[in-house]
Amino acid sequence: MIIDLHCHTNMSDGALTPNQLIDLAVKRGVGMLSITDHDTLDAYAHISAVPSNIRLIPGIELSSRWRKQGVHIVGLNIDLSNEAMASAVTQQSDVRLQRAHEISNRLGRLGFDNCLEGAQRFAQNQIGRPHFAEHLIEVGAVKNANEAFKKYLGAGKAGDIKEHWPAIDTVVQWIRRAGGIAVLAHPSKYKMTRTKLTELLNDFSIAGGEAMEVVSGLQVPSVTRDLAGLCKKFNLLASCGSDFHAPDKKWAALGMTSNLPDTCNPVWDHWA
Ligand code: AMP
Ligand code: MN
Ligand code: MN
Ligand code: MN
Repeated sequence: MIIDLHCHTNMSDGALTPNQLIDLAVKRGVGMLSITDHDTLDAYAHISAVPSNIRLIPGIELSSRWRKQGVHIVGLNIDLSNEAMASAVTQQSDVRLQRAHEISNRLGRLGFDNCLEGAQRFAQNQIGRPHFAEHLIEVGAVKNANEAFKKYLGAGKAGDIKEHWPAIDTVVQWIRRAGGIAVLAHPSKYKMTRTKLTELLNDFSIAGGEAMEVVSGLQVPSVTRDLAGLCKKFNLLASCGSDFHAPDKKWAALGMTSNLPDTCNPVWDHWA
């Protein structure tokens, strides 16, 4: 069965509506799907019908902070009606809006005016840095999103503001209280040394995190092996997802992920 437990809709920084995403999942033969938008559950309220051949696992990707770094934690199989999660989502949305104002101010100091209004025109719902990237492309400041992140939005640049995100312990507790499993998202994307990643996984486990993404999209086998080793070492469950955002991104296509190694305990066995 094709399993994809990490993807985005236009309720955060994805290109497709929730219903379009479900349609694409059907086309790709995805049998188990979780929509994990950034800091919002709104996609779930917009789905008109879930086809009987897809098992939809309620999920979310929450922004958090570990030491001075931004870290993403996916919550899987959460109760969509949980009140603590609802207020957590409200808090995260407030942080996003405040952060957007600050990003806009900082970009303003670099000579780019009215970036908040510009970015908001691209955000259907939850605003994020990709919407600022789209605005910067539109005004001709950069050629593409990659350049926007490299120059203005990515690690260490003006628009990289992560100080307001809650600590990983807080986020893990939100997920656990909503009955879900906390999954450390795309560990290899943080570009940490192995020592640092080991420390993160140690803190994450102590906080009550129960799983990690061993596979994120199409990744090289050596990375998968390495992450599977860490997953076993910390006795975590293994998850996989594409981190799909838009149909034109080949390395993060919906339903296209590398296989989990046999040594892994899949997270879905947990709720089978
Ligand atoms: P935010 O949620 O506002 O912190 O923005 C993070 C999002 O930006 C990620 O989820 C990605 O979708 C996107 N992103 C991060 N780095 C890049 C990059 N180099 N190029 C394009 N998009 C990126
Ligand atoms: Mn994203
Ligand atoms: Mn992420
Ligand atoms: Mn994601």
